[in-house]
Amino acid sequence: MKPVKVGLLGLGTVGGGTVNVLRRNQDEISRRAGRGIEVVAASARRIDAPRICDTTGIRLTTDPFAVVNDPEVEVVCELMGGVEPARELVLRAIELGKHVVTANKMLIALHGNEIFRAAQDRGVMVAFEAAVAGGIPVIKAIREGLAGNRIEWLAGIINGTGNFILTEMRDKGREFDDVLAEAQRLGYAEADPTFDVEGIDAAHKLTILASIAFGIPLQFDKAVTEGITRITREDVSYAEALGYRIKHLGIARRTAQGVELRVHPTLIPERRLIANVDGVKNAVLVMSDAVGPTLYYGAGAGADPTASAVVADLVDVVRTMTADPENRVPHLAFQPDALRDLPILPMSEVETAYYLRLTAEDKPGVLADVTRILADQDISIEAILQKEAPEDETDIPVIILTHRVKEGRMNEAIARIEALPAIKRPVARIRVESLG
Ligand code: NAP
Repeated sequence: MKPVKVGLLGLGTVGGGTVNVLRRNQDEISRRAGRGIEVVAASARRIDAPRICDTTGIRLTTDPFAVVNDPEVEVVCELMGGVEPARELVLRAIELGKHVVTANKMLIALHGNEIFRAAQDRGVMVAFEAAVAGGIPVIKAIREGLAGNRIEWLAGIINGTGNFILTEMRDKGREFDDVLAEAQRLGYAEADPTFDVEGIDAAHKLTILASIAFGIPLQFDKAVTEGITRITREDVSYAEALGYRIKHLGIARRTAQGVELRVHPTLIPERRLIANVDGVKNAVLVMSDAVGPTLYYGAGAGADPTASAVVADLVDVVRTMTADPENRVPHLAFQPDALRDLPILPMSEVETAYYLRLTAEDKPGVLADVTRILADQDISIEAILQKEAPEDETDIPVIILTHRVKEGRMNEAIARIEALPAIKRPVARIRVESLG
């Protein structure tokens, strides 16, 4: 059989990696797919820029629409990123009846509902394994491998840059700004690192994971996002003294009231495997009723690892090209007419335990006032740690670990604690999850 002809939109890290992996493993890939897979056209902003792949035999253009419209191209890989023109290009490919593979989490998180509807109507596939956790096949694992389970919750370290920063802060006692500058030098962080450190990139991926785990439409606008910019070196070491690690987690949990969808720094017990996922690596922990916890770990970014996921999607597309569209694996794991409209909970309704760091005047009665406020709000304390005042300071840090409580009630307690005259700075608050 003739090879399937693919057009790439984007020939950067992921596009170049995809060309390389397809060429390097072409024999194995065609044995798996049943047909060869050949890149015949590609677009980029610059034609003459140096590439990580050999482009011999690939028609190059600066016009991505020319690739989509190219009659020889049967499958379009969108690997350029951003929302526009990526959205328009993907919709155009679908309109032309071409299957699409994309690595673009922002596009899927923001416009996936529209894109999947169009693909469904036209009977084509839109595959997006590379959009979440790079090379880790977590979409396939949840959508297909766990299809017999009711998924209760999932928690992921799904931004490598953020995890690299927190790991360096812990291992080397470095400050946030200093490590961020290094991450930028090493090419991990974007030039504008907001998406990484403010949790937006992680929220894009979490939105996708929640949809395929619970069978709900994509709702990025309802995800709660808190970044890691306010985590101090001291928080990292106090957490360690209490037996915890701080990780920037994306958490999606099904409760009786609705779905929690949140990205924030989180204390997790250091004995958990996921607490030991360090550096730029990604991991997703999924709790399901039949199999229990399963953990997916590996490279969340990079040319070859991400290409691994793109090529796996291409193989899936090729295998199903002849299958009846009704019998394909649904985009969001559940049949489109079986998606549920579960409410996404506001953060005030979310229940977690808390790590609180107070900066207090060193005088009698302060701790009694604080514990009374917590007791008034029905918040019970698991541990209190009073540290020495740092050099050149008289105020002392007090660390409190609480049991689980609704966030709304904790917000009231924090407001009252901050109003005490002996409390000198805003209370630093990090949520705690046992992930048991
Ligand atoms: P990249 O290295 O910046 O490559 C982007 C490519 O698209 C480049 O070839 C660029 O052309 C081209 N391009 C960008 N905007 C264009 C436009 N308006 N018109 C025509 N061509 C355009 O990006 P990347 O890291 O490969 O990321 C691509 C996608 O994969 C993004 O959605 C990203 O979120 C996702 N992703 C990346 C990774 C990773 O490790 N990098 C991991 C998972 C998912 P030039 O080469 O001429 O600049």
